[in-house]
Amino acid sequence: MSTTTRVVTNMPVIPPSYIPETPDGFDSLLHDDVKAREYLLSLSWPTGDAFCPRCGHRKVYTLSGDRLRCASCKYTFQPFSGRWINNGALSPSEWLHLVSLFVQEQSVHQMKKQLKLSYNTVYKALTAIRFAILAHAIDARQLISSATGLNSYLKGNRLTGGPREMRMDTIPVYGILRRDGLVFIDLVPGFQAETLFHFHMNFHLKLIRTGNLVYTDRYKEYDALMFCGNESLPYEVIRRYDEPPHIDAVEDEFWNFAQSRIKRFRGISCQRFPLYLKELEFRFNNRSKSITEVLAAYLCALVPSPL
Ligand SMILES: [Zn+2]
Repeated sequence: MSTTTRVVTNMPVIPPSYIPETPDGFDSLLHDDVKAREYLLSLSWPTGDAFCPRCGHRKVYTLSGDRLRCASCKYTFQPFSGRWINNGALSPSEWLHLVSLFVQEQSVHQMKKQLKLSYNTVYKALTAIRFAILAHAIDARQLISSATGLNSYLKGNRLTGGPREMRMDTIPVYGILRRDGLVFIDLVPGFQAETLFHFHMNFHLKLIRTGNLVYTDRYKEYDALMFCGNESLPYEVIRRYDEPPHIDAVEDEFWNFAQSRIKRFRGISCQRFPLYLKELEFRFNNRSKSITEVLAAYLCALVPSPL
Protein backbone atom coordinates (compact mmCIF):
# COMPACT_ATOMS: atom_id res chain seq x y z
CA MET A 1 0.00 0.00 0.00
CA SER A 2 1.48 3.34 -0.99
CA THR A 3 1.96 6.12 1.51
CA THR A 4 0.04 8.58 -0.66
CA THR A 5 -3.05 6.39 -0.82
CA ARG A 6 -3.13 5.97 2.92
CA VAL A 7 -2.78 9.65 3.65
CA VAL A 8 -5.52 10.71 1.26
CA THR A 9 -8.00 8.00 2.21
CA ASN A 10 -7.49 8.44 5.93
CA MET A 11 -8.81 11.99 5.83
CA PRO A 12 -12.25 12.57 7.34
CA VAL A 13 -15.01 11.02 5.23
CA ILE A 14 -17.12 14.15 5.61
CA PRO A 15 -15.25 16.95 3.84
CA PRO A 16 -14.99 20.15 5.91
CA SER A 17 -17.22 22.00 3.42
CA TYR A 18 -20.12 19.75 4.46
CA ILE A 19 -19.76 20.76 8.05
CA PRO A 20 -21.90 23.85 8.56
CA GLU A 21 -20.47 26.89 10.19
CA THR A 22 -21.64 27.69 13.68
CA PRO A 23 -21.76 31.49 13.32
CA ASP A 24 -22.25 32.24 17.02
CA GLY A 25 -19.58 29.71 17.89
CA PHE A 26 -19.96 26.12 18.96
CA ASP A 27 -20.31 27.09 22.61
CA SER A 28 -23.59 28.88 21.92
CA LEU A 29 -25.12 25.46 21.16
CA LEU A 30 -24.17 23.86 24.44
CA HIS A 31 -27.00 25.33 26.48
CA ASP A 32 -29.67 25.72 23.81
CA ASP A 33 -31.45 22.49 22.96
CA VAL A 34 -33.38 23.91 20.00
CA LYS A 35 -30.29 25.30 18.30
CA ALA A 36 -28.27 22.20 19.16
CA ARG A 37 -30.91 19.97 17.59
CA GLU A 38 -31.03 22.10 14.43
CA TYR A 39 -27.27 21.90 14.17
CA LEU A 40 -27.25 18.10 14.58
CA LEU A 41 -30.02 17.77 11.99
CA SER A 42 -28.00 19.87 9.54
CA LEU A 43 -25.15 17.37 10.00
CA SER A 44 -27.46 14.39 9.56
CA TRP A 45 -29.11 15.78 6.41
CA PRO A 46 -26.48 18.02 4.80
CA THR A 47 -28.77 18.96 1.88
CA GLY A 48 -31.54 19.96 4.26
CA ASP A 49 -33.90 17.18 3.16
CA ALA A 50 -34.63 14.11 5.25
CA PHE A 51 -33.93 10.70 3.75
CA CYS A 52 -34.53 7.12 4.79
CA PRO A 53 -31.63 5.77 6.88
CA ARG A 54 -32.42 2.24 5.70
CA CYS A 55 -32.71 2.56 1.90
CA GLY A 56 -31.64 6.15 1.24
CA HIS A 57 -34.94 7.06 -0.45
CA ARG A 58 -35.59 10.80 -0.38
CA LYS A 59 -39.38 10.82 -0.19
CA VAL A 60 -40.45 10.59 3.44
CA TYR A 61 -43.72 11.36 5.19
CA THR A 62 -43.98 13.18 8.46
CA LEU A 63 -45.96 11.29 11.08
CA SER A 64 -47.10 12.45 14.50
CA GLY A 65 -44.46 13.24 17.07
CA ASP A 66 -40.95 13.05 15.82
CA ARG A 67 -41.52 10.19 13.46
CA LEU A 68 -40.98 9.93 9.72
CA ARG A 69 -41.87 7.17 7.27
CA CYS A 70 -40.09 6.16 4.08
CA ALA A 71 -42.34 6.22 1.01
CA SER A 72 -40.37 3.40 -0.54
CA CYS A 73 -39.54 0.79 2.12
CA LYS A 74 -42.15 1.99 4.67
CA TYR A 75 -39.56 2.12 7.43
CA THR A 76 -40.70 4.34 10.30
CA PHE A 77 -37.86 6.25 11.86
CA GLN A 78 -36.82 9.26 13.88
CA PRO A 79 -34.35 11.92 12.73
CA PHE A 80 -31.38 10.27 14.45
CA SER A 81 -32.36 6.62 13.85
CA GLY A 82 -29.50 4.45 12.63
CA ARG A 83 -26.85 7.02 13.57
CA TRP A 84 -24.13 6.78 16.21
CA ILE A 85 -25.80 9.60 18.15
CA ASN A 86 -28.86 7.40 18.60
CA ASN A 87 -26.87 5.42 21.18
CA GLY A 88 -27.26 7.33 24.41
CA ALA A 89 -29.86 9.10 26.50
CA LEU A 90 -28.53 12.64 26.01
CA SER A 91 -30.33 15.73 24.79
CA PRO A 92 -28.87 17.50 21.71
CA SER A 93 -27.15 20.18 23.81
CA GLU A 94 -25.80 17.56 26.22
CA TRP A 95 -24.33 15.64 23.27
CA LEU A 96 -22.52 18.73 21.99
CA HIS A 97 -21.38 19.61 25.50
CA LEU A 98 -20.02 16.08 25.86
CA VAL A 99 -18.18 16.43 22.55
CA SER A 100 -16.50 19.63 23.71
CA LEU A 101 -15.46 18.00 27.01
CA PHE A 102 -14.17 14.97 25.09
CA VAL A 103 -12.07 17.29 22.91
CA GLN A 104 -10.59 18.73 26.12
CA GLU A 105 -9.83 15.15 27.26
CA GLN A 106 -11.65 15.50 30.55
CA SER A 107 -12.12 12.42 32.70
CA VAL A 108 -15.47 10.62 32.85
CA HIS A 109 -15.86 11.87 36.42
CA GLN A 110 -15.31 15.49 35.40
CA MET A 111 -17.74 15.09 32.50
CA LYS A 112 -20.46 13.53 34.63
CA LYS A 113 -20.14 16.39 37.10
CA GLN A 114 -20.36 19.09 34.44
CA LEU A 115 -23.23 17.43 32.59
CA LYS A 116 -25.06 16.31 35.74
CA LEU A 117 -25.50 12.85 34.22
CA SER A 118 -24.79 9.41 35.62
CA TYR A 119 -21.43 7.73 35.11
CA ASN A 120 -23.00 4.99 32.98
CA THR A 121 -24.81 7.47 30.73
CA VAL A 122 -21.57 9.38 30.07
CA TYR A 123 -19.56 6.19 29.62
CA LYS A 124 -22.00 4.78 27.07
CA ALA A 125 -22.13 8.05 25.14
CA LEU A 126 -18.31 8.17 25.06
CA THR A 127 -18.33 4.66 23.63
CA ALA A 128 -20.58 5.95 20.83
CA ILE A 129 -18.12 8.82 20.14
CA ARG A 130 -15.19 6.38 20.01
CA PHE A 131 -17.06 4.01 17.70
CA ALA A 132 -17.96 6.98 15.48
CA ILE A 133 -14.26 7.91 15.25
CA LEU A 134 -13.23 4.34 14.49
CA ALA A 135 -16.00 3.98 11.89
CA HIS A 136 -14.45 6.87 9.93
CA ALA A 137 -10.99 5.29 9.77
CA ILE A 138 -9.98 3.71 6.47
CA ASP A 139 -9.73 0.28 8.11
CA ALA A 140 -13.09 0.50 9.94
CA ARG A 141 -14.54 -2.60 8.31
CA GLN A 142 -11.50 -4.64 9.22
CA LEU A 143 -11.68 -3.37 12.81
CA ILE A 144 -15.41 -3.82 13.44
CA SER A 145 -15.18 -7.55 12.89
CA SER A 146 -14.66 -10.83 14.65
CA ALA A 147 -10.89 -10.32 14.29
CA THR A 148 -11.05 -7.70 17.07
CA GLY A 149 -14.34 -8.72 18.69
CA LEU A 150 -15.71 -5.17 18.24
CA ASN A 151 -18.54 -6.59 16.14
CA SER A 152 -19.96 -8.12 19.33
CA TYR A 153 -20.80 -4.61 20.61
CA LEU A 154 -23.19 -4.00 17.71
CA LYS A 155 -26.62 -5.47 17.18
CA GLY A 156 -27.79 -4.07 13.86
CA ASN A 157 -27.03 -0.38 14.16
CA ARG A 158 -27.27 -0.29 17.96
CA LEU A 159 -24.47 -0.44 20.48
CA THR A 160 -25.93 -3.01 22.85
CA GLY A 161 -23.71 -6.06 22.87
CA GLY A 162 -21.32 -7.14 25.53
CA PRO A 163 -17.67 -8.07 25.33
CA ARG A 164 -16.60 -11.64 24.96
CA GLU A 165 -13.77 -13.26 26.80
CA MET A 166 -10.38 -13.04 25.11
CA ARG A 167 -7.51 -15.47 25.34
CA MET A 168 -3.89 -15.50 24.25
CA ASP A 169 -4.89 -16.99 20.91
CA THR A 170 -7.66 -14.43 20.23
CA ILE A 171 -6.26 -11.10 21.54
CA PRO A 172 -5.48 -9.06 18.41
CA VAL A 173 -2.18 -7.31 17.68
CA TYR A 174 -1.86 -3.76 16.33
CA GLY A 175 1.06 -2.19 14.49
CA ILE A 176 2.23 1.44 14.65
CA LEU A 177 3.24 2.94 11.30
CA ARG A 178 4.74 6.43 11.12
CA ARG A 179 4.71 8.40 7.86
CA ASP A 180 5.22 12.12 7.25
CA GLY A 181 4.19 13.24 10.71
CA LEU A 182 1.12 11.01 10.71
CA VAL A 183 0.46 7.76 12.49
CA PHE A 184 -1.49 4.72 11.33
CA ILE A 185 -2.49 2.03 13.76
CA ASP A 186 -3.20 -1.15 11.87
CA LEU A 187 -4.71 -4.44 12.88
CA VAL A 188 -2.01 -6.97 11.98
CA PRO A 189 -3.89 -9.83 10.31
CA GLY A 190 -3.13 -13.31 11.55
CA PHE A 191 -1.26 -12.06 14.64
CA GLN A 192 -2.47 -12.64 18.16
CA ALA A 193 -0.86 -12.09 21.56
CA GLU A 194 0.29 -15.71 21.34
CA THR A 195 2.24 -14.93 18.15
CA LEU A 196 4.25 -12.22 19.91
CA PHE A 197 5.02 -14.47 22.87
CA HIS A 198 6.18 -17.09 20.38
CA PHE A 199 8.41 -14.57 18.53
CA HIS A 200 9.77 -13.41 21.86
CA MET A 201 10.64 -16.91 23.10
CA ASN A 202 11.93 -18.32 19.83
CA PHE A 203 13.14 -15.39 17.72
CA HIS A 204 14.14 -12.90 20.44
CA LEU A 205 11.64 -10.22 19.45
CA LYS A 206 11.94 -7.67 22.25
CA LEU A 207 8.77 -7.35 24.37
CA ILE A 208 8.09 -4.61 26.88
CA ARG A 209 5.24 -4.77 29.33
CA THR A 210 3.69 -1.85 31.17
CA GLY A 211 0.51 -2.82 32.97
CA ASN A 212 -1.56 -4.78 30.49
CA LEU A 213 0.06 -3.03 27.52
CA VAL A 214 2.72 -5.07 25.73
CA TYR A 215 4.76 -3.64 22.84
CA THR A 216 7.70 -4.76 20.76
CA ASP A 217 10.81 -3.55 19.05
CA ARG A 218 10.59 -2.67 15.34
CA TYR A 219 8.93 -5.37 13.27
CA LYS A 220 9.05 -5.17 9.47
CA GLU A 221 7.50 -1.82 8.47
CA TYR A 222 6.03 -1.24 11.93
CA ASP A 223 7.77 0.93 14.50
CA ALA A 224 6.23 -1.36 17.10
CA LEU A 225 3.57 -4.01 17.48
CA MET A 226 1.35 -3.96 20.54
CA PHE A 227 -1.59 -5.52 22.28
CA CYS A 228 -3.56 -5.01 25.45
CA GLY A 229 -3.52 -8.21 27.45
CA ASN A 230 -5.39 -9.52 30.46
CA GLU A 231 -4.50 -11.48 33.54
CA SER A 232 -4.61 -14.81 31.70
CA LEU A 233 -1.31 -14.11 29.88
CA PRO A 234 2.12 -15.53 30.85
CA TYR A 235 3.79 -12.14 31.42
CA GLU A 236 6.44 -13.85 33.58
CA VAL A 237 8.20 -15.19 30.46
CA ILE A 238 9.02 -11.63 29.28
CA ARG A 239 12.73 -10.98 29.64
CA ARG A 240 14.29 -7.70 30.75
CA TYR A 241 16.57 -5.66 28.48
CA ASP A 242 19.24 -3.05 29.01
CA GLU A 243 18.57 -1.35 25.66
CA PRO A 244 15.21 0.31 25.06
CA PRO A 245 13.10 -0.79 22.07
CA HIS A 246 13.16 1.30 18.90
CA ILE A 247 10.08 3.39 19.59
CA ASP A 248 11.39 4.48 23.01
CA ALA A 249 14.96 4.96 21.75
CA VAL A 250 14.00 7.40 18.97
CA GLU A 251 11.66 9.34 21.28
CA ASP A 252 8.94 9.13 18.68
CA GLU A 253 6.54 12.08 18.78
CA PHE A 254 3.42 9.95 18.54
CA TRP A 255 4.69 7.54 21.15
CA ASN A 256 5.34 10.43 23.57
CA PHE A 257 1.87 11.76 22.82
CA ALA A 258 0.33 8.32 23.32
CA GLN A 259 2.23 7.12 26.36
CA SER A 260 0.76 9.49 28.93
CA ARG A 261 -2.68 8.67 27.57
CA ILE A 262 -2.01 4.93 27.38
CA LYS A 263 -1.09 5.01 31.07
CA ARG A 264 -4.69 5.94 31.73
CA PHE A 265 -5.66 2.84 29.71
CA ARG A 266 -4.57 0.53 32.52
CA GLY A 267 -8.11 -0.26 33.45
CA ILE A 268 -9.02 -0.77 29.80
CA SER A 269 -10.00 -4.19 28.60
CA CYS A 270 -8.43 -5.87 25.60
CA GLN A 271 -11.93 -5.79 24.07
CA ARG A 272 -12.13 -1.98 24.11
CA PHE A 273 -8.47 -1.33 23.30
CA PRO A 274 -8.93 -0.69 19.52
CA LEU A 275 -11.44 2.07 20.29
CA TYR A 276 -8.80 3.92 22.29
CA LEU A 277 -6.08 3.27 19.73
CA LYS A 278 -8.12 4.76 16.91
CA GLU A 279 -8.99 7.71 19.15
CA LEU A 280 -5.26 8.30 19.66
CA GLU A 281 -4.62 7.99 15.92
CA PHE A 282 -7.39 10.51 15.20
CA ARG A 283 -6.27 12.98 17.87
CA PHE A 284 -2.62 12.81 16.81
CA ASN A 285 -3.25 13.14 13.08
CA ASN A 286 -5.54 16.12 13.70
CA ARG A 287 -3.49 17.63 16.51
CA SER A 288 -3.15 21.01 14.81
CA LYS A 289 -6.82 21.21 13.81
CA SER A 290 -10.09 21.84 15.59
CA ILE A 291 -11.84 18.49 15.90
CA THR A 292 -15.02 19.53 17.69
CA GLU A 293 -17.22 19.99 14.62
CA VAL A 294 -15.72 16.96 12.87
CA LEU A 295 -16.67 14.83 15.87
CA ALA A 296 -20.21 16.20 15.90
CA ALA A 297 -20.48 15.26 12.21
CA TYR A 298 -19.06 11.79 12.85
CA LEU A 299 -21.68 11.23 15.57
CA CYS A 300 -24.44 12.12 13.13
CA ALA A 301 -23.18 9.71 10.48
CA LEU A 302 -25.12 6.53 9.83
CA VAL A 303 -23.82 3.38 11.46
CA PRO A 304 -22.52 1.45 8.44
CA SER A 305 -24.55 -1.63 7.73
CA PRO A 306 -23.94 -4.47 7.47
CA LEU A 307 -20.57 -4.52 9.14
ZN1 LIG B 1 -36.53 3.39 3.05
